Amino acid sequence: MAGIGKILTFVDLPGNELDETGRALLSYCSRLATWSDTSWGSITLNAPDGDQLAGFAAYGAPEVICVADGDSYLNTPALLGKILAQLAAEKSAAIVVLPHNDLGSTLAPVMAAALDAALLTEVTGARRTGAGLRLSRSALGGRIAEAKAWDASRPLVITVALRSLSQVLLPSARPSSPVVAAWRPAALPDGPAAGVITRIPPDPQTVDLSEAEVIFSAGKGCSAATFDQLKELCRILNVSFGVTRPVYDLGWTGFERMVGQTGRTVTPRLYVALGISGSMHHVGGIKDSRRIVAINIDPKAPIFPNADEGFVADLKEVLPRLLDRAKTRVGGAA
Ligand SMILES: Cc1cc2nc3c(=O)[nH]c(=O)nc-3n(C[C@H](O)[C@H](O)[C@H](O)COP(=O)(O)OP(=O)(O)OC[C@H]3O[C@@H](n4cnc5c(N)ncnc54)[C@H](O)[C@@H]3O)c2cc1C
Repeated sequence: MAGIGKILTFVDLPGNELDETGRALLSYCSRLATWSDTSWGSITLNAPDGDQLAGFAAYGAPEVICVADGDSYLNTPALLGKILAQLAAEKSAAIVVLPHNDLGSTLAPVMAAALDAALLTEVTGARRTGAGLRLSRSALGGRIAEAKAWDASRPLVITVALRSLSQVLLPSARPSSPVVAAWRPAALPDGPAAGVITRIPPDPQTVDLSEAEVIFSAGKGCSAATFDQLKELCRILNVSFGVTRPVYDLGWTGFERMVGQTGRTVTPRLYVALGISGSMHHVGGIKDSRRIVAINIDPKAPIFPNADEGFVADLKEVLPRLLDRAKTRVGGAA
């Protein structure tokens, strides 16, 4: 089977670090390249230092292309997108892979337009088929699930859903000695009509639960007192809180906090279920969370087989302790 053309992935080294997302993208592309029998490389906005380079090497990245003065374009993503498209065209990339985060999802449509490429966002899986790929995606908090075929007749730009990324190092991955090369656009594309002046991150207390990173959820096992403690814990830890149907029915929160089949489908990095039995109506809405931790007094509660980590404990004892610990570590002042 012939290769499908070169894969380039964008790793932006935020705060000069090869972070979890960057490592996971390298893992993703190294696997995609192996399964697709094709070459790959990475694009960065600044030159990686020794530690970062070791990370690229661990995932077998053959080359790292650093955009000269790349960081200076971060507040003009439309211009950066055009510059990256120029680079992708020059390197004859068939597939450009970006993370589905704020920056990646802004750059992707700009790059796709500049490259006259196909665009697919929030990709959750990719499989080699004949000359191209079969890609699956799940969007809008799981409300849309679809599969698409890419036939390799023109370039493809994808953003990968963060929840589908993992830093796994395949045993078959061979460490590399990446070739690091600086790259500068021959001519700067036209400037952007607008640039970013300020960025306000989402507030976990008010963010739509389908977008939340970390959720602590209260079930019927919470009393009014432990529910208040949980809300305070969420505020101190700056994480989102959710509830099950019976808790919503008590009138303690609005409908937008209800998680499950008729409530929000959530896909956080961490979902902590407190006093939740684990009915299929609830689990159906949380099953795509990256990590589920459950606390329940009943060792036979059905939530446990659905959790990555489970603790048999009474919330009346656990929550005050968690709260004390959080206050000591993070500070509980209002
Ligand atoms: C059509 C339909 C749609 C539904 N949609 C949803 C939905 O979207 N979301 C949803 O959540 N539900 C939904 N439900 C309801 C769902 O079937 C369950 O009834 C509900 O999820 C149970 O909520 P719970 O786990 O909070 O309560 P329970 O099932 O009553 O569980 C409470 C748990 O708390 C534990 N517990 C008690 N005391 C303590 C303590 N002190 N410390 C620790 N643990 C303790 C118990 O062991 C128990 O496991 C739906 C139902 C139907 C029929």
